[in-house]
Amino acid sequence: YQGLAGRSTDEVLQLCAAHGQQLKLQRNSVVTQLHGAIKKRLKQDLKSLHSFALELSKDFQRQSKTCLYQVLAAVQGIQLQNEAMQMFQIKAFDLEQSLQEVTDRYEKEKQKRRALHNSLVELRGNIRVHCRIRPLLPFDDAAGHSISQDRQRNFSEKVAYAADDETVVVKCSRPGHASLNKTFQFERVYNDLESQDAVFADVAPLLTSLLDGYNVCIMAYGQTGSGKTYTMLGPQLEGDLAFSTEEESELGIIPRATQEVFRLISEKPPGSYWVEVSVVEVYNNEIFDLLAKDSYGKVLGIRRDVVTTREGKSDVPLLTHETVENASEFLHLVNRGLQLRVRHPTLVHAHSSRSHLVVTLTITTVVFGDNFGTLWEDEQTSQRLNKEVSCTFPQKMRDNKSTSSSRASSPVQLEAIEKMKQVKTRLQLVDLAGSECVGMSGVTGAALRETSFINRSLSALADVLGAIAEQRAHVPYRNSKLTHLLQDSVGGDAKLLVMLCISPGQKYLTESMQSLGFGTRARQVQRGQVKKKNFPVPSKAK
Ligand code: ADP
Ligand code: MG
Repeated sequence: YQGLAGRSTDEVLQLCAAHGQQLKLQRNSVVTQLHGAIKKRLKQDLKSLHSFALELSKDFQRQSKTCLYQVLAAVQGIQLQNEAMQMFQIKAFDLEQSLQEVTDRYEKEKQKRRALHNSLVELRGNIRVHCRIRPLLPFDDAAGHSISQDRQRNFSEKVAYAADDETVVVKCSRPGHASLNKTFQFERVYNDLESQDAVFADVAPLLTSLLDGYNVCIMAYGQTGSGKTYTMLGPQLEGDLAFSTEEESELGIIPRATQEVFRLISEKPPGSYWVEVSVVEVYNNEIFDLLAKDSYGKVLGIRRDVVTTREGKSDVPLLTHETVENASEFLHLVNRGLQLRVRHPTLVHAHSSRSHLVVTLTITTVVFGDNFGTLWEDEQTSQRLNKEVSCTFPQKMRDNKSTSSSRASSPVQLEAIEKMKQVKTRLQLVDLAGSECVGMSGVTGAALRETSFINRSLSALADVLGAIAEQRAHVPYRNSKLTHLLQDSVGGDAKLLVMLCISPGQKYLTESMQSLGFGTRARQVQRGQVKKKNFPVPSKAK
């Protein structure tokens, strides 16, 4: 403004305009500069953004490549693993197959060995001994109130078990007692899980022998509660001495054997066989006929005696033999007999294990006297004759009369009957009384008598086996009614199977050891070769 002093207005205006112009120019140049700077900066940023993006994409590519490699490697790994797995699977399959083959071969070998052993047993006249160990049951715990919980627990501990199907192990270590570890070998050992089916499978071949002309006897030995009745008959009905026939799979040897006998008979020419049953109880050294009826037809247990016939066989005169046509008739009879065991006034025992039960099936076979070799070759004739005879023979057998009967009166029939010969084979099924040596102290009256009779009869059985084993000239069969009754089966020509029944709990250790000892001794008995009845079986009928 000092410069403007003294100037004219025009000059001032000119100067102002020039100044404005200059300012404008200056502003423009600043704007241009700023624009340039911004542009430059933007360019730089864009460039760095571009390089960053480039770097990023490169990085991404790198990373995805790595990932891809990893995925590929993993896939390859999985493929390898899969292949390895498949290899393993193939190997496992091969191993499984060869194991199966080995097992099959082993089973076959075992069967062969068993068959050979059986033949050896037969040649030597040995007694077969099988042993069944029952499962632990709820009542094994109930050990009375007076003993401590600890002892109670020990009592129900398992001490006897099947190591394999031929070996029983008894293992026990109690504080204060010498520890026990013993093994016993038998022809067959059943563990606690083996079913009635499994037990019967080993019994069935004996029944084929029965129809081939051998006598057979199967007896269950063991202490009370060890499973004798369960094994021989099946589970008993609650509070009743009959057994239940409802559960087929639970049925024991006696009903199954009967079914099998009738099945085998059904394969033979009709009418050539018939079956009679007797049910006998040996209680306090007396024999009771559980099928006997009085003159009014009422069923009574009538006392019978056992005698030795002139041929040296044991026989029970007047014993009731009922003819049965099928297994259910038989079961009905046996159940009737069993129910009588509790009702009979002279039989005071409340428990079935206090008496011996002997169920006998007598199978009579009709064979032609002078025609043995060609028996039944003329099937039609034989069937006719057999049919005719079958309706007369059972009656005759019961009446014990001569062969002529009112129903067989024609000359042809009479001649046919004369030419016929009967061959009898017998299947004896025995549920022995409990083998435990009940302490005599404190037992009086009927119970004492009962116990001493059981002990005496079972030791008589052991004595008989001992005498046969030592081949003594005199075998004391007549020391007890039981051994006298079973004489022909035990000492004679029967295939004998003793089924030892064992309770697995420690509580029963002493009794189990006693039973296993009995079985071991029985197994060593050699009676000479088991004899076949003079019994021509035609190849056709086999
Ligand atoms: P025993 O006739 O030797 O005195 P039982 O046959 O009456 O003995 O058996 C005693 C109890 O044990 C019964 O209740 C029976 O059902 C049961 N029992 C026995 N053996 C077996 C088994 N193998 N499986 C299941 N229960 C059994
Ligand atoms: Mg019993």
